[in-house]
Amino acid sequence: MCTFALLMKVLKFGGTSVGSPVSLRKVGEIVRAEGPSVVVLSAFSGTTNSLVKISELLKDQQSDLALAEVDDLKKHYQTYVNSLFDGSKLLSTVLDFVEEKFRSLEQITRKLITPALERSILAQGELMSTQIFYWMMLDGGFEMELISALDVMRIDQHAEPDLKFLKEALNERIKAENYYITQGYICRNAFGEIDNLKRGGSDYSASLIGAAIDANEIQIWTDIDGMHNNDPRIVDHTRPIERLSFAEAAELAYFGAKILHPSSVRPAAEAQIPVRLKNTMKPEAHGTLISSDSDSGGIKAIAAKDGITAIKVKSAHMLLAYGFLKRLFEVFEWYRTSIDMITTSEVAVSITIDSDEHLEAIVEDLNKFGTVELDRDQTIICVVGDNLQEQSGIAVKVFEALKDINIRMISFGGSKNNVSVLVDTHSKNQALQALNEHLFNY
Ligand code: ASP
Ligand code: MG
Repeated sequence: MCTFALLMKVLKFGGTSVGSPVSLRKVGEIVRAEGPSVVVLSAFSGTTNSLVKISELLKDQQSDLALAEVDDLKKHYQTYVNSLFDGSKLLSTVLDFVEEKFRSLEQITRKLITPALERSILAQGELMSTQIFYWMMLDGGFEMELISALDVMRIDQHAEPDLKFLKEALNERIKAENYYITQGYICRNAFGEIDNLKRGGSDYSASLIGAAIDANEIQIWTDIDGMHNNDPRIVDHTRPIERLSFAEAAELAYFGAKILHPSSVRPAAEAQIPVRLKNTMKPEAHGTLISSDSDSGGIKAIAAKDGITAIKVKSAHMLLAYGFLKRLFEVFEWYRTSIDMITTSEVAVSITIDSDEHLEAIVEDLNKFGTVELDRDQTIICVVGDNLQEQSGIAVKVFEALKDINIRMISFGGSKNNVSVLVDTHSKNQALQALNEHLFNY
């Protein structure tokens, strides 16, 4: 049985936090300062993108280009390692390891690519970052225990992580309050092959591990000082949000706040383990604390999700009919396409989806119900806060801010945490800025 009575944290560091020798050393300092923990690392920034590119080139039968990409990446790692271990007696060991890893990748470029091979290519980034970090710490006289995520993290045939297995496997390996390190993102699938938790999945790994060991806190370290109340790349004067409830954080992560992987809130929320978002380059900054207690109500943040397609189905049959929506939704279920927003009138339904993968087939099926209209390049703008419906004037404030923008759909009351509107993507920046000024008084 699992009996974790240990007081440990999970510390997850993202790609940019481990992306250069300077930041990797910072990570080392943070780990020492935080105390006993399970450290979860992403691949160095840019690595997974590069590995994706290599696999894509191989699928395109462009093995020469794939080999060139492998070579560029190898040079990057050699430079990194030479700088990190400059003057260290471990330098040759680490360089040999890098050499060996890239020799395997080079060999793969000469093989026929398969889905299993592709997933094993994608796993190399985390396998390298953790090993290199382990050696960096060892070099400083600090020995950590390296746990392979491939031995503990497992997904079933529906790509759902197996928390029970993770608990048992970690329980066997974590016997004392100590410093452990493992890979984010990677796992094994139902066939025992190397697989992953999808892009950005290291946060999900950290949250699952936190839940599995009943950690007292899960920290997600990135290059920004917490979740901001609006997109700092687009809007001026955004600021970090100090506290969020799990529900608010889940809405924000799902609707576009890039800082946290959307699935990653759930395991922590279910296990009621606080999640703290911190900045590796500014560890003294408060960051954002996500927990079960939500503080004061009111609007906390605005997020946007692009790449949305709106589908409107107009049908006279809908009038006074029951079972219509069920049949309509079955089309989306069949194509495993999730729906984000829904609005209905007596003669039409509008639905948004964020994946065009099966769009053609979906439209073909929907044609049986009535006339189908599509609007592509849409953006969902989501205003998130606590108890929004119970406060008067929230909707007015939102619409007042957006008075010059054409709104395609509105959703309010779906949860107590959000008001969402659908706009044309080219109005997005204007909408975000206007909402910022109206809601946060800038
Ligand atoms: N390295 C993986 C990615 O870039 C996973 C992660 O960083 O969370 O998607
Ligand atoms: Mg990430």
